[in-house]
Order: sequence, then structure tokens, then C-alpha cells
Amino acid sequence: MAIERTFSMIKPDATKRNLTGAITKVFEDNGLRIVASKRVWMSKREAEGFYAVHKERPFFGELVEGMTSGPTIVQVLEGENAILKNREIMGATNPAQAAEGTIRKQFALSIGENSVHGSDAPETAAEEIAYWFSATEIVG
Ligand code: ADP
Ligand code: MG
Repeated sequence: MAIERTFSMIKPDATKRNLTGAITKVFEDNGLRIVASKRVWMSKREAEGFYAVHKERPFFGELVEGMTSGPTIVQVLEGENAILKNREIMGATNPAQAAEGTIRKQFALSIGENSVHGSDAPETAAEEIAYWFSATEIVG
């Protein structure tokens, strides 16, 4: 296993419910280190750009609306096998299918308002980190 970095977001449905600390604690309790973090209120253009891969999907409008409805915490998480580990900690996209103990099982409201985002592969992790952070903002 290698030390990896992955990109994470605590989505507006969660920040609105004051869950920033509770969700960050789950990452830390599972051995992931927050090496970069900031609170942003993303624009429609930023949300559409970030989720461009989903632009043809029927839920795209709803997704962009949700992501621009309040603050998001964008973070870089670092640790052993961080990309896959974070996906496991997050749980399935649909909270109804998420395993016990996962963030989405514990906190998500619905498949759309599912509290967290995490990169799904090394390539997307690198792209997504670069979308939100400059190198000097990632400080270990
Ligand atoms: P994940 O976030 O688990 O990687 P996807 O990449 O498939 O999931 O989808 C991106 C985001 O789009 C999801 O986290 C969720 O917020 C939203 N989404 C996905 N599928 C649906 C759906 N069927 N209805 C509404 N929103 C959805
Ligand atoms: Mg995804």
C-alpha cells in the first residue's frame, strides 16, 4: 500500500446541519489526515465544471442546485490507500444501500443529498485536487 491523496467534499446538506466537525472526525478516526481544507460557497459555473462528467444525467440540474445551495468544505485527505479507503468510509451513493457505520448511512438524507463526495480513482483525485487547490495550499 502507498500513501495517497484524495479529494473530499462535505456537501451543503451536511454543512447546513452543522456536521462539518462530525464528518471530519470520521476521516481522522480512520487514519486520514486533512492536509488541506477550506470552506467555499461554489458558483453555478464551478459546480457545473466540477461535475461535468455527469452533465447528461437526469439529476444534473438537481445536483448543481444542491451544491450551490450553501457552503461546502473542500478537503485533501492523505493516508495509506486514501482513495479507496475514503470511498469505503463514505459508503454507497444511495444511503439506503450504505453499510452500517459509513458516513452516508449515518448522515445522508437521500441519494442526492448524500453529505460527502470522494474521488473514485487516482486520475480523478489528481484532477479534483487541482480543481480546488493550488500546491501551496496543501501543507501536510
Ligand atoms: P458518488 O458521489 O458516490 O461518486 P456519482 O458519481 O454516481 O456518486 O454521482 C455524483 C453525485 O450525484 C452523487 O453523490 C449524488 O449527490 C448525485 N446523484 C447520483 N445519482 C443520483 C440520482 N439518481 N438522483 C439524484 N442525485 C444523484
Ligand atoms: Mg462520483
